Amino acid sequence: KKVADRYLKREVLGEGTYGVVFKAIDTKTGQTVAIKKIRLGKQKEGVNFTALREIKLLKELKDPNIIELIDAFPHKGNLHLVFEFMETDLEAVIRDRNIVLSPTDIKSYLQMTLKGLAFCHKKWVLHRDMKPNNLLIGPRGQLKLADFGLARIFGSPDRRFTHQVFARWYRAPELLFGAKQYGPGVDVWAAACIFAELLLRRPFLQGSSDIDQLGKIFAAFGTPKPSQWPDMIYLPDYVEYQFVPGQPLRTLFPMASDDALDLLSKMFAYDPKARISAQQALEHRYFSSGPPPTEPALLPRPP
Ligand code: ADP
Repeated sequence: KKVADRYLKREVLGEGTYGVVFKAIDTKTGQTVAIKKIRLGKQKEGVNFTALREIKLLKELKDPNIIELIDAFPHKGNLHLVFEFMETDLEAVIRDRNIVLSPTDIKSYLQMTLKGLAFCHKKWVLHRDMKPNNLLIGPRGQLKLADFGLARIFGSPDRRFTHQVFARWYRAPELLFGAKQYGPGVDVWAAACIFAELLLRRPFLQGSSDIDQLGKIFAAFGTPKPSQWPDMIYLPDYVEYQFVPGQPLRTLFPMASDDALDLLSKMFAYDPKARISAQQALEHRYFSSGPPPTEPALLPRPP
């Protein structure tokens, strides 16, 4: 069955945050694509126009480390977003116990993640929902960020209807304190959690609720002092936490190099204003000194 006279529908790939995703063939190019069907049911007419206008902007967002949005169209009351098809994702790589990730493999995955982020942040687009299964991996090992800008257009995903509780583990402290105005720092924090997960081979801060998530963050890095993060006390959901000292990063990541830990600590800065930007992170000596990142084509991947 053809969709929009152009795409031949194949199997369902999975249920995502915004709706079902299926594989399809683009009959115009012969290319395999992934189509994300987004329910627009509850929204008012006007919202669709806003969404379509914003999506037009996302189509212009082209970078080697960003999933290309090939096409977007409404069809039978659903919005269809057509993306390039990707074989696997970083979550599958991290979870595969047969895969050994060398320090230069980790450097390569982090560099590609930060390149994608830096590109979008330069264009004032935030991701807001970074997690390892949003980092897709292509046939030549290239890592590309998926779902860029969707959170802003479609609102924060309603997690009651999905199994996506895991995104909490990647949330920046300002979001957990209810910040309504936030910036690219939220994506850098998430990238830091992913960096940590690459080093540990398990999610780093696994909170079971938003409160518990903050507890896990404070247990690792220590309760933030107002001198460290002056704006913290003005955040909507700010509550004073009992002081805990935190642990040295070195104890948390015994295998990491000094450069890796220095970068990690700057990405995990509490104050979003003091947090390193994606572009600055790319310029950190972790990437310029020591063994260079693995060529994407040589990265280990699941069978
Ligand atoms: P989530 O909301 O969990 O991020 P998505 O909506 O991104 O999920 O995707 C749902 C499923 O579709 C996932 O299993 C994912 O692997 C798959 N998928 C999403 N985008 C692509 C793509 N571009 N290529 C291949 N598979 C994809």
